[in-house]
Amino acid sequence: MANSRFEYVKQFEHDKYLLPNTWIVIRIDGRGFSKLCAKYGFEKPNDRRAVDLMNAAAKAVVTELPDITIAYGVSDEYSFVLHKSCTLFERRSSKLITTISSTFTAYYVHLWSSYFPDTPLSSPLPSFDGRAVCYPSVQNLRDYMSWRQVDCHINNLYNTTFWSLIQLGGMEAKDAEKFLAVSAHPSRKSPKLIGMQPTLSADKNEILFSKFKINYNNEPEVFRKGTVVFRDYELVEPAGQRVADAVDNLAEPVQQSKTQEETDKKRRAKARVVVDHLDIIKDDFWDRRPWLLS
Ligand code: ATP
Ligand code: ATP
Ligand code: MG
Ligand code: MG
Ligand code: MG
Ligand code: MG
Ligand code: MG
Repeated sequence: MANSRFEYVKQFEHDKYLLPNTWIVIRIDGRGFSKLCAKYGFEKPNDRRAVDLMNAAAKAVVTELPDITIAYGVSDEYSFVLHKSCTLFERRSSKLITTISSTFTAYYVHLWSSYFPDTPLSSPLPSFDGRAVCYPSVQNLRDYMSWRQVDCHINNLYNTTFWSLIQLGGMEAKDAEKFLAVSAHPSRKSPKLIGMQPTLSADKNEILFSKFKINYNNEPEVFRKGTVVFRDYELVEPAGQRVADAVDNLAEPVQQSKTQEETDKKRRAKARVVVDHLDIIKDDFWDRRPWLLS
């Protein structure tokens, strides 16, 4: 293979190396899932089987790639976060994006029949696109994660109200859409309410409750919050233990830190991968799991 006269074509390849020391987010998104939902009869607004399948595929990806610190998913998308110290594929953008997208797609297709035993897949088969974005600070990364979870909330509240109007209120889709647009507009309110600027979400909560006796806060967390997948490799130690470790480290600094590094690596690879539906906007989630962003 080597040194053929054709080999010069290799020089046309230009790899993009993602900026060192930044948090890499690879976001994948299902291609044409609006159509796919209709084709396989996904329940609206949220088909639990489809959500569970997305989460199972994401868990498999996180398990297979220990460089992934945390992942967040909603609808037909998943964001995988690679630690800022990650050196996988020398941080080559196309290798990272295609590996994660294709690994996810492979598991999605492989696991399909476990979640949809009565509806076999047929072409066009599900596929996922992918992109990579680098975030230079923990704050930027946290804001990215918050952005996705806020998006989940806004969309789910809208979709829950929209589909309630149709499924429980007997409205046509067009009318439901119009109704939501009008009722959400403060200027269309009774004069008493003008100037109070009720928020869009307060409006929808009110519609859900007054028309259908649905308390949005009682909707399943998996739909309201999306799903977070992370490596639970280190429970927060009591402060006393940490002091004891630090004293040990002082006694034999070099030796200890090397062993520690190895141990951490092993722990990371063996760690339990957790799938949960938690608030990742507030500090609490991150404060309780300091290893995720350190
Ligand atoms: P594109 O290829 O541009 O991504 P798309 O049709 O996939 O097009 P998206 O914006 O990604 O467009 O939207 C995904 C669609 O799939 C939304 O309509 C969303 O409601 C639907 N969807 C995703 N997961 C579920 C689910 N679990 N249950 C019901 N509908 C879902
Ligand atoms: P990377 O992840 O970097 O791509 P790799 O192990 O996949 O690593 P490649 O350079 O892609 O490395 O090489 C693919 C290997 O698979 C080669 O050794 C090639 O000979 C072998 N291979 C591919 N297809 C076949 C096949 N049909 N039969 C036998 N061997 C194959
Ligand atoms: Mg898209
Ligand atoms: Mg999509
Ligand atoms: Mg999408
Ligand atoms: Mg290969
Ligand atoms: Mg090859």
